[in-house]
Amino acid sequence: TTRIVLASRPVGEPTDDDFRIETVDLPQPGDGQALLQTLFLSLDPYMRGRMSDAPSYAAPVEIGQTMVGATVSRVVEASDRFQPGDVVLGYGGWQSASVESTKHLVKLDPDAAPLSTALGVLGMPGFTAYSGLLTIGQPKEGETVVVAAATGPVGSAVGQIARVKGARAVGIAGGPKKVAYLNELGFDAAIDHRAPDFRDQLKAATPDGVDVYFENVGGAVWDAVAPRLNLYARVPVCGLVSSYNATSLPEGPDRSGQLMGRILTKSLTIRGFIQSEFWPSQHEQFQRDMSSWIADGQVAYREDIVEGLENTVDAFRGLLRGANFGKLIVKVS
Ligand code: NDP
Repeated sequence: TTRIVLASRPVGEPTDDDFRIETVDLPQPGDGQALLQTLFLSLDPYMRGRMSDAPSYAAPVEIGQTMVGATVSRVVEASDRFQPGDVVLGYGGWQSASVESTKHLVKLDPDAAPLSTALGVLGMPGFTAYSGLLTIGQPKEGETVVVAAATGPVGSAVGQIARVKGARAVGIAGGPKKVAYLNELGFDAAIDHRAPDFRDQLKAATPDGVDVYFENVGGAVWDAVAPRLNLYARVPVCGLVSSYNATSLPEGPDRSGQLMGRILTKSLTIRGFIQSEFWPSQHEQFQRDMSSWIADGQVAYREDIVEGLENTVDAFRGLLRGANFGKLIVKVS
């Protein structure tokens, strides 16, 4: 297999030197394992956390270990549960082939949906949007829901599910092309966080304030949204991608006291979550709801497919900067 291993822990934005491409022989699959050829590799912001050994909810990738990641793969040799040619969702990582325990593999039906959607709208990111928005955000008809990174797989699903529930969806994205796409998706308003008048745009787009802010990015976007939160607003804290490469705290005075004051006086609910918390109880309902919303046109999705494992590191760097436009996936073979 050709694989990409972590060579050193990145400081700030990952560099090429933080990774190494190697070609190695895979072990023969043992009992309960399968040999798989990688078709698609998912690139997700959480991977930046795995490159770091700071304490987190999941163990870091060790130096010299293959970078982890969800994959859609073809079964090469028959195993206890699968036939050659079966396509499965697994966790093969940044490599062209993998040997995996069959226990965790999920067989995909290529006739039901394009295979890559198992990594995006019908997979972990779509589920993150669904579970975080509905369980914590609880949007009601007529309320205003704001989400940033809104053209990505999580944000685009958040906005569209908010609309399914009768709420007003306001999307925040970087640059005019992404903003135009949000309008196409049916967001009620779309604004550009890179525009100099971003705060004014946000004000105009949220005349009745903000009832749900689905937090994907943190940083300057959070600073702009926080004063617009209404009484009893809900903030599912899903990600803080603006700071994943940060090496220090933001400049300026400590604003945590001001934030605590706002939580108190506006009776805010600010609740972090990792999607796996909701998986056991909500996963089946999600599959049913999301499939039907896609089928009836209420949810559309966009993928950004990069060809070739050798382009993985560059594509990943771009993800944290907003160079991707849609769910970022590497087509490996
Ligand atoms: P995206 O495909 O949306 O990629 C990240 C996007 O973040 C970029 O495209 C960019 O979009 C935006 N961004 C980057 N830097 C900034 C910045 N400084 N300010 C504003 N926006 C910025 O990623 P996903 O949809 O996969 O993930 C979205 C978020 O959800 C991430 O924070 C991720 O960590 C989190 N997440 C959390 C999970 C959980 O269980 N809690 C599970 C899955 C994802 P633009 O060009 O529009 O600025």
